[in-house]
Amino acid sequence: MTLLDRDRAHIWHPYTQAQTAPAPLPIARGEGVFLYTEAEHKENGRKILDGISSWWVNIHGHAHPKLNAALAAQAAKIEHVLFAGCTHAPAVELAERLIAILPVSDQAALTRIFYSDNGSTAVEAAIKMALQYWHNRGEIQRTRLITLDHAYHGDTVGAMSASADSLFTRAFSPLLFSVTRAHAPYCHRCPLGLNRASCNIDCLSSLEQQLAVHNHTVAAVLVEPMLQGAGGMIVWPREFLAGVRQLCDRYGVLMIADEVLTGFGRTGRMFACQHAGISPDIICLSKALTAGYLPMGVTAATENIYNAFLSDDRAKTFFHGHSYTANPLACAVAIASLDLFEETNALAAVARLEQHMLAELTPLRELQIVEDVRILGGVGILELNGTGYLDQLGPRLAAAFLDRGLLLRPLGNVLYFMPPYVITEDQTQWAIEQISAVLRAVK
Ligand code: PMP
Repeated sequence: MTLLDRDRAHIWHPYTQAQTAPAPLPIARGEGVFLYTEAEHKENGRKILDGISSWWVNIHGHAHPKLNAALAAQAAKIEHVLFAGCTHAPAVELAERLIAILPVSDQAALTRIFYSDNGSTAVEAAIKMALQYWHNRGEIQRTRLITLDHAYHGDTVGAMSASADSLFTRAFSPLLFSVTRAHAPYCHRCPLGLNRASCNIDCLSSLEQQLAVHNHTVAAVLVEPMLQGAGGMIVWPREFLAGVRQLCDRYGVLMIADEVLTGFGRTGRMFACQHAGISPDIICLSKALTAGYLPMGVTAATENIYNAFLSDDRAKTFFHGHSYTANPLACAVAIASLDLFEETNALAAVARLEQHMLAELTPLRELQIVEDVRILGGVGILELNGTGYLDQLGPRLAAAFLDRGLLLRPLGNVLYFMPPYVITEDQTQWAIEQISAVLRAVK
């Protein structure tokens, strides 16, 4: 039996219907931006460029020697210990390192690091923190969450509730708690039918209206700053983000930034909030936090929020903690990743990638199939004519790219390229040529 036969017999893959989906790629190893398939796979194994950073997590390339060494060194000391009543150097050092780089503003800084397991749990913890913050302060009526159209915050029940209603959430709708929705600044499909060249970010008024109507019952506004990811790769005008912060201040509610995707340089700044010079009250991090090595989530909060929990009254405690909280292996790799970030000047690499995509992807707007081209930092997005996530174009394109040795996974009719930051100019050029050739051939 081959690996694929054994996979087919026992594995339940995410987002894939086993019967009809193409066989999964049997990956044997990775190096830099490349994945290598098992020898038994076509043509004695193939070399494939990871054009989506293995679901947006990888930044320094696969199997990086420095990250491998950090992981091995930590494993030789302590692999894991519970984080209630214990602490360890990797967790403390990572917290210090994060606090030093997280967005700050005149009003506040993020000074408290809460660890969890992944992006969804980082969001769950943020939502619970926001609600209990108000509860502990005696404003128990503040239980409402405002989130945006097209939002995606994860696959657990709270994160699904906060996400836009979609194929991903529909079967579970009876279980989801209700949230209040506001417009997203989806300029290509402006909810108000306006044009970005002449508008005044009028879509922000929808958030303002919701805040005005629900005023004293709102706990927090939760957004994916600058780039709404799985909901369609929607790039924001930075003025919208600045406006969200202003409105949260004006109405006295917490702002939660879900930077699970955007954190650690993906949008060209270390954190997307920095595009607008703002800092949220709570930030959610995961994905590139560990450079794509291990699952880990961080929910960072201001001292003001932390203080609302600091009490000898046990009822005020934040009762949330996962078995693998602050896993030392993940912390050690995250620290090594931050070192690499500086050593390699990763932000400059993202800026070069952005310039390259601006020059070479933007002209594809001329193709009839391309409706919109959006580029932000290390993410290049082509919105194609199509009907959304279930559009058959997505899988067809993915198969065509794979034939050429490029791993891309369009979100239906939204095609995006989001490689590890270590991609070279030649590799980027090659990938863009494949994208161009495949799109030109689409019938
Ligand atoms: N928030 C955002 C913005 C995301 O993009 C994702 C994952 N795509 C999540 C949360 C959930 O993260 P995870 O898949 O690690 O649970």
